[in-house]
Amino acid sequence: MKDLKEKLMEYEVVIGLEVHAELTTNSKIYCNCATRFGGEPNTRCCPVCTGMPGALPVLNKKVVEYAVKAGLATNCSITRYSRQDRKNYFYPDLPKAYQTSQQDRPLCTNGYLEIEVDGLLKKVGIHRIHIEEDAGKLIHNESGNNTLIDYNRCGVPLIEIVTRPELNSSAEVKVFIEKLKAILEYTEVSDCKMQEGSLRVDINLSVRPKGESTLGNRTEIKNLNSISAIVRAIEYEAKRQIDEVKKGRKIIQETRRWDDEKGVSFPMREKNETVDYRFFPEPDLCPIIIDEAWLNEIKSSVPELPDERKNRIIAEYKLPEYDANFITGSKTLADYFEKAACKSKNPKAISNWLMGDLSKKLKENNVEITNIPVTPENLAKLVEFIDSGVISGKIAKQVFEIMWVTSGDPAEIIENKGLRVINDADEIRKVVIKVFEENPKAIEDIRKGKEKSIGFLIGQVMRKTNGKAAPDIANQLIRKELDRYFDS
Ligand code: ADP
Ligand code: MG
Ligand code: ZN
Repeated sequence: MKDLKEKLMEYEVVIGLEVHAELTTNSKIYCNCATRFGGEPNTRCCPVCTGMPGALPVLNKKVVEYAVKAGLATNCSITRYSRQDRKNYFYPDLPKAYQTSQQDRPLCTNGYLEIEVDGLLKKVGIHRIHIEEDAGKLIHNESGNNTLIDYNRCGVPLIEIVTRPELNSSAEVKVFIEKLKAILEYTEVSDCKMQEGSLRVDINLSVRPKGESTLGNRTEIKNLNSISAIVRAIEYEAKRQIDEVKKGRKIIQETRRWDDEKGVSFPMREKNETVDYRFFPEPDLCPIIIDEAWLNEIKSSVPELPDERKNRIIAEYKLPEYDANFITGSKTLADYFEKAACKSKNPKAISNWLMGDLSKKLKENNVEITNIPVTPENLAKLVEFIDSGVISGKIAKQVFEIMWVTSGDPAEIIENKGLRVINDADEIRKVVIKVFEENPKAIEDIRKGKEKSIGFLIGQVMRKTNGKAAPDIANQLIRKELDRYFDS
């Protein structure tokens, strides 16, 4: 992206996000149907969520609580007298022909998140958070001649989080989304599974010459569902717009779609004139009034948030900031870490495992840390065995592999497989003598001054003991044996 870097000397990129998050309530926003992901198509619906004439909605109280919780966790003001509005449009995934949403009295307003990019802190404004209902899913047949509709998702509660146009790069957006995601996970407002569509991001992007104070015309790229797609789409779109502007062309305000496979965005529909949704207050639902007592109750349910947890983990376990950042980026990872670290004398080693081998395994196997065979207690034990010299770091990796498959206790694995470090000098000496017999050339090389061959001999001893010889003892014995050789 050197190309983009050059362009950014003259132009500034401006980005605002609209993030949709599905809430983790058990039932839908206006009826008792289940919200769970999946299920046979059209089995989790009723007259209310399929918009049958005359069916009446009843607001799920939890939806308000979750949205307010998200607002409190993102420094928003809470609207004490709020209401819901109809947003009218026709599309087959929404049988009512309107979406119940919030227009001029959203539940939360004027918040912010603080992000850190390249060591610089920045506050990014959150314009508003409102509640609304999700639509169904259209399943387009591959042949392209028919479309099926699954209404299970219809009426699943959403919050829409709208930021101010205050982000200026893909790197900032990445950090912002990761932070927002962590906060929604910590507060248990959303499971944020992007691959299942519980967190979807729309990107509004414009460019302007550096120093210019008015905003340029923006385009909107809808429904991105992975962080890598978000980053790539931003970089592509920024470059495209700067190229257009440089050619003296105007940016058309339009909605674009991102094709992640081809790595390009293309126009979906023009939004030259703002669509008029004919918003009006939803007459079937009463206003939402949040009194002091209810607000306090919700406030007291906000848990420790990622930044607080990060600072506590640094203080309590003496972890470097980098580690603490990584670990608290996900609630479940942080939970795992604390379960292991509180049982360990070496929290830094636990952190190394989490950032290294364990993360790698999670990725390779595409599993969640809440679902793995290696328990935090067993990981703490493994670290203890390394620190007390019972096994070497290299052997520990083997033990870890076995723990990953069998969920075994490291103590048993080490005993059963005979993986303990060999500290017995006599036993190691026998191996050393054998290695000397087998490698006269290496010894000749050492005599001629080729020090490196000592390393080769140590390697041979380790190999013959399957990596179990205590390296310091092996080293000592080899040097002694060499002295004896050269003296004779
Ligand atoms: P709409 O109601 O048409 O969706 P909003 O004014 O609510 O428009 O803005 C939607 C999103 O677009 C917000 O995240 C906002 O920050 C962002 N946005 C608005 N104008 C611009 C612009 N010129 N450049 C980049 N982002 C913008
Ligand atoms: Mg919009
Ligand atoms: Zn229903």
